[in-house]
Amino acid sequence: MASVPVPVVLRRGGQGPSRSGAGPCQPTAYGRPISEAVPSEGALVDRYGRAHTDLRVSVTDRCNLRCVYCMPEEGVPFRPREEILSFEEITRVARVARSLGVRSLRLTGGEPLVRRGLVELVHQLALVGFDDIALTTNGTALAAKASALARAGLQRVNVSCDSLKPERFAQIRRRGDLVTVLAAMDAAEAAGLVPLKVNVVVIAGANDDEVVDFAAFAREHGRVVRFIEYMPLGAEGDWHRGQVVPSAEVLARINDRWPLDAVEVRGSDPAPAERYRFRDGGGEIGVVASVTRPFCGTCNRLRLTADGAIRNCLFSDDEVPVRELLRNGGSDEDLAMALRRSVWGKLPGHGINEPGFLQPARSMSMIGG
Ligand code: SAM
Ligand code: SF4
Repeated sequence: MASVPVPVVLRRGGQGPSRSGAGPCQPTAYGRPISEAVPSEGALVDRYGRAHTDLRVSVTDRCNLRCVYCMPEEGVPFRPREEILSFEEITRVARVARSLGVRSLRLTGGEPLVRRGLVELVHQLALVGFDDIALTTNGTALAAKASALARAGLQRVNVSCDSLKPERFAQIRRRGDLVTVLAAMDAAEAAGLVPLKVNVVVIAGANDDEVVDFAAFAREHGRVVRFIEYMPLGAEGDWHRGQVVPSAEVLARINDRWPLDAVEVRGSDPAPAERYRFRDGGGEIGVVASVTRPFCGTCNRLRLTADGAIRNCLFSDDEVPVRELLRNGGSDEDLAMALRRSVWGKLPGHGINEPGFLQPARSMSMIGG
């Protein structure tokens, strides 16, 4: 299924499968839908047979940075605090998800480390028994917390860093500084949060001239740099295709300098990053080609937004709210059905490359990247 191209899907008012979970399903490039009704038992499988085993939890929509591709510089509308799920509420959803076969969990945001007490949340989640608990962070507040997070049960961390040049870093992220983020990477490794991954959003004309520098950085430090294609998820809605640097181009530039070999992924690892090793043994890099080589056909992710909605795709505006269930006596079975309904409503592809594509209403920091 992995190599099937993303089929034509109109995202809104269209000919794609019904989002309700109850309506008729069209046969697609992924084969006929399995059945019409939302299943009430078994694993979290969608209509196209994709099993969902990875939960991304946004713990806050707030952030201390204002990256150009994610948030506006001023006037960010944050959700009132009472709308944000408590740690107990997040843990309860996570526990129900675990019971439905979710094995890995990633904490994100906004900036997860601006949420007070995150170490305690990691501890509560670790008790649920996931195979893997990871964190995506901008790194500005990581150094001081890395050891405590690791002790609480965090296993891995992705640190976002879009430039190795201090001035440019400041231009792209608008706040914060490179030195602090690099020190955070050291601290995370010292705390055992390895292998450390570094997320780089590559934007044409902004930082794409640093691709080879980042590859050198990966080799020098033994960190897995992941080059991410710029996606239409910013708050300012000013994304355009010309800013996307195709991952194939990123790989070609690195390969010219240090030949790369694709890492054979055994079984059906649905991780979005395509992995490559330096042929000379110098380590590994990855590319996330969400725009030019979408991986929707093997997508295994679902998301819990900070304000308590289950979301089946970064690019879908369809959300199944669970906050009221959590606060008004809903049972675990009710929560399980909400998760199932969300997964069942997932479209076969994100549709970025279709003519009818519209950017989702919520930006990356609000959804949880
Ligand atoms: N604040 C944390 C951070 O920056 O790592 C976690 C949340 S952030 C939304 C998660 C990841 O999404 C980061 O690696 C960030 O660079 C990436 N991201 C944000 N907006 C993006 C966009 N428009 N296209 C591609 N990646 C994006
Ligand atoms: Fe904040 Fe992360 Fe978005 Fe940057 S990418 S503004 S650090 S949430």
